[in-house]
Amino acid sequence: MKDSFGRRINYLRISVTDLCNYRCKYCMPEDGVTKKGRSDLLSLEEIYYISHIFVEEGVDKIRITGGEPLLRKGLVNLVESLGQLESVKDLSMTTNASLLSDKAVKLKKSGLDRLNISLDTLDKEKFQAISGGNLDDVIQGIKAASDAGLGIKINTVLLKGVNDDEIYDFIDLSKKYPIDIRFIELMPIGPTASYARDKFLSGDEIIETYDLRKTEKDDPNSPADLYKIDGGLGRIGFIKAMSHKFCGDCNRIRLTADGYLKPCLHSDKQVDIKTPLRRGEDIRPYIKKALEIKPYDHKLLEGKSIKRSMNRIGG
Ligand code: SAM
Ligand code: SF4
Repeated sequence: MKDSFGRRINYLRISVTDLCNYRCKYCMPEDGVTKKGRSDLLSLEEIYYISHIFVEEGVDKIRITGGEPLLRKGLVNLVESLGQLESVKDLSMTTNASLLSDKAVKLKKSGLDRLNISLDTLDKEKFQAISGGNLDDVIQGIKAASDAGLGIKINTVLLKGVNDDEIYDFIDLSKKYPIDIRFIELMPIGPTASYARDKFLSGDEIIETYDLRKTEKDDPNSPADLYKIDGGLGRIGFIKAMSHKFCGDCNRIRLTADGYLKPCLHSDKQVDIKTPLRRGEDIRPYIKKALEIKPYDHKLLEGKSIKRSMNRIGG
């Protein structure tokens, strides 16, 4: 599959729910989201059907996300069906890990390869203040995933005045353990955009301060630039969506929990795929349409931000 700029699109991100048990200040509106009726959401069977058409059309990389994907009932079954799609070379999930400890082994057995786990602080009180959650649950989840043999990357959002005093602790983790840490620049998205503007901290500032050494990317389409610290076992990635654009290499398309294709995280453009699917139509023309309207790049640097909150898009 190619978009109208000739970019090969082979990476599908599926949001299975926009609900979350956490309230990260940069992501979710404080009062949460209104729970949708069952029929407003794609069923797991519909998600599988759409994904399998995408795979027939050339997708070979799938990530499950949300909201918090582990809140979705039957998720392990979806992972199992996706895991059986032979052409899928990489099946991963992004999670806050709070509900992971008793599901990690099942997920691994079902064919999940890797997890990206969000962790913005190693301090219990700060963790509660940022997300409303309990750090112990997350640490247990990370241990269970590691014991189950799942690949793990830690996603840490850079928050000025909140976690900038802990950056070295995270770098040190990647030095001592073969864990990749990925620092993410805050993006102003949806109703939490002003928090993101207020707490923005650039990746370059951290790279300079800690004198990090750039290393080769293992995936040319990955938005993360990789660095190492001398003697480090893991790597340190930076996703600098705000200070550097990487849109030229974008290979992604997103499916939202309420059944829209979103060709770009930072654009309000979307294509309804749920309605034609439920009418029994061929969904391929709608996939084609989404590829046609995929914008070349985001307009965040020009001060534009989108309406949907991150938990409703699928980060
Ligand atoms: N609940 C799961 C989690 O937290 O990992 C999956 C969904 S969450 C929306 C996916 C990722 O988006 C997380 O790593 C989170 O830190 C990131 N994220 C959310 N809002 C963001 C924002 N405004 N700027 C940058 N990253 C954001
Ligand atoms: Fe929930 Fe993830 Fe958003 Fe935090 S970042 S509120 S864990 S969806």
